[in-house]
Amino acid sequence: MSSKWSDGFKTALMLRLGLWYAGLFAVGAIGLLLFTYALLGRALAAQDRDALASMLSRYAAEYDRSGLAGLKGLVEADESEGRHERLLVRVMNKETELVYFAHPPGWASFDLSALDDRAHVSSGWTSLVSPVDGSTLEVGTDVLRDGVTIQVGRSSHVRDDLLAHFRARAMEVAAALVMAAVLGALLIAHVALAPVRSLEATTQAILDTRRFDARVATRGTRDPLDQLGARINEMLGQIQTLLAGMRGALDNVAHDLRTPLTRFRNIAEQALTETDPGKARDGLAHALEEADRVGATLTALIDVSEAEAGTMRLTVERVGAAVIAAEAISLYADEAEERGIVVESKIDSAVEVNADRTRLRQVLANLIENAVKYTGDGGRVTVAAHEDGDMVITVSDTGIGIASQDLPLVWDRLYRADVSRSARGLGLGLSLVKAIVEAHRGRVWVQSRLGHGSTFSVAFPRTPRAAA
Ligand code: ADP
Repeated sequence: MSSKWSDGFKTALMLRLGLWYAGLFAVGAIGLLLFTYALLGRALAAQDRDALASMLSRYAAEYDRSGLAGLKGLVEADESEGRHERLLVRVMNKETELVYFAHPPGWASFDLSALDDRAHVSSGWTSLVSPVDGSTLEVGTDVLRDGVTIQVGRSSHVRDDLLAHFRARAMEVAAALVMAAVLGALLIAHVALAPVRSLEATTQAILDTRRFDARVATRGTRDPLDQLGARINEMLGQIQTLLAGMRGALDNVAHDLRTPLTRFRNIAEQALTETDPGKARDGLAHALEEADRVGATLTALIDVSEAEAGTMRLTVERVGAAVIAAEAISLYADEAEERGIVVESKIDSAVEVNADRTRLRQVLANLIENAVKYTGDGGRVTVAAHEDGDMVITVSDTGIGIASQDLPLVWDRLYRADVSRSARGLGLGLSLVKAIVEAHRGRVWVQSRLGHGSTFSVAFPRTPRAAA
């Protein structure tokens, strides 16, 4: 239904665009033809009059020189030589009597009495219009010194025939032009609307399949429609990544919560079956602890998912690294002191990082927590910073270290090396660190020697725009 509607819509749009182009083109072409026709008509009329004027003066001169007989001879000679079509030649003596009259074919349809009226009166031009076919007879009058009047005229037949011929050809040309314009315009509109059709097909495919992997076909011409297609493709790409991220996050959360929830259920079940009230209370307390762990896991998982999917809100600003490091260290100061571990920051107070303040604190807190947790009593944890293209913060410890085969795995969600299974933890700290730093467009890496200690590094881009 909607496809039929949009097909109709596209055809109507195409037709409308096509007809507009064709109409404009046809109006222009026909205007040009009309203009040419008018110019041609005028030029021919002027040419006729010039020719007539020269014939009139030629005949008048001949009359002056050799009288009526000479004029007759010249007119007949001109006619027999076919110098021009037959002209109207009238000579009237000073008594206004017509003494000579040569006439072209079709003269009878003109009322020549107006010519009689001009005799003796004045030289000049008279235009007679035939009531029969609308043609004109243009007549030049020359009143000679002795009162004789000579009139030479030419009908517009030849000119009219030429113009009629031009009109007929022009009509054919105009018809061909209009047809070519309509076809051409439809073709242009069809080609021009190709991106719109592709856009429509893409949206329809997405609506039909509910999948965002369809893309608008672009031609790389960089015209506005092509650029619109490219922008829409970019948008579709982002939507697809986001959807995949959200879907993945949901799967991960569901998967990762299943085990702790089952554990929680078992503990609660166990507590229920206890008959000894003391043991039942212990069981409930244990269940409560487990519920807290589930809650913490859920929060960490959501954070990781948001950071990985790119939906984590970050307020990136220039943050003093020394202050944030001191805040993070203070969280574990008691535990470190208890176990005789020295935790120190070597970060200069001037060092600044482009990062979200809260998230940077979370990153450093996780790294310091791990460093303290996996370092033996009396060890040392050092937080430092240096610039290496990016701003790099390192957390080093003198702890148990990580086996080389485990190094690439420590960033995975829920990964815990065998040796650390006994320590408290969710196995989410480092994956959260990695997700947050990468959401800032930064990098993380680790160097470690089993039994000697580890150094975790996080690098943040130097420009805030890059980190945003
Ligand atoms: P958790 O510490 O909760 O187990 P993490 O994601 O923070 O989870 O760390 C993953 C694993 O990486 C840890 O279980 C541990 O095996 C290893 N690890 C992390 N930090 C250190 C460290 N500073 N020294 C040695 N091993 C570490």
